[in-house]
Amino acid sequence: MEGQGNTDVHVPMWKVVVSSLPFLAVHAACVAVLWVGWSWLALAVCAASYAIRVFAVTAGYHRYFSHRSFKTSRPVQFLFALLGTTAVQKGPLWWSALHRHHHRYADTEEDIHPPTVKGFWWAHVGWILSPKYEATRWKAIRDFARFPELRWLNRYHLVPPVTFAALLFLLGKGLEYAAPSIGTSGWQLLVWGFFVSTVLSWHVTFCVNSLAHVFGWRRFETRDTSRNSFWLALLTLGEGWHNNHHRFPGSERQGFFWWEVDLTHYGLKLMEWAGLVWDLRRPPAWVYQRGSWNFEPAPEM
Ligand SMILES: [Zn+2]
Ligand SMILES: [Zn+2]
Repeated sequence: MEGQGNTDVHVPMWKVVVSSLPFLAVHAACVAVLWVGWSWLALAVCAASYAIRVFAVTAGYHRYFSHRSFKTSRPVQFLFALLGTTAVQKGPLWWSALHRHHHRYADTEEDIHPPTVKGFWWAHVGWILSPKYEATRWKAIRDFARFPELRWLNRYHLVPPVTFAALLFLLGKGLEYAAPSIGTSGWQLLVWGFFVSTVLSWHVTFCVNSLAHVFGWRRFETRDTSRNSFWLALLTLGEGWHNNHHRFPGSERQGFFWWEVDLTHYGLKLMEWAGLVWDLRRPPAWVYQRGSWNFEPAPEM
């Protein structure tokens, strides 16, 4: 992995505005809840859409593609990538390559989104809106780049979310006629199930880059500023144990103790029980040596 921060590259303001428009438009679309109204079904679809897509990002994009913390078959690997793309966080190879870079250079000038160096808003959304980081860093993700189906998803990462949004609209439209007593519609399921759910999942994911390096407590004296937060762990399905994660990124579980709620870990345990994933990596005994200073180089993955 090369240092490719490029934060000093000058990007014209008009380019930043143009590249931010789709992101802002998805936020603006949420205002449509005022016109489409709500129903219990729409809220349930919103919650399910959030949970499934955040799980695909945390278990798939993060714990599998970025850190290889468990093993799975090629079809399930594809499924993780496919569901991950529906979260509209670009392709799995782009995401994971950048994330590996974050671990290597966490909280240094070279890091892409260090709140301690470049400010909270840059860490939260600035780096995403900037066109500086659009390219996939192929050298950092050679291991998964050899799969053509993943390269396809990485390139056409907007196809699955647009298809997903269209299916939600058709589902709502169908129910509007087939079961009018539910009180839903095509537009309602589209707005709640896709737009509101996407914006919520975006900001919760971004909080791991911004808040999880600023607020919370530190069990391990890692070389970075990562922190643990129970509330963020709840919202992110387990990613809030970020100090644990920086201490040993290769662990499949990020809650290192039974009381550290980690919903992604529970989901992966269920998948392991069903034979869909295996070889879930645990934190080794030395990792539990609380508060010990950790100056050795961070693991590669
Ligand atoms: Zn981090
Ligand atoms: Zn990570």
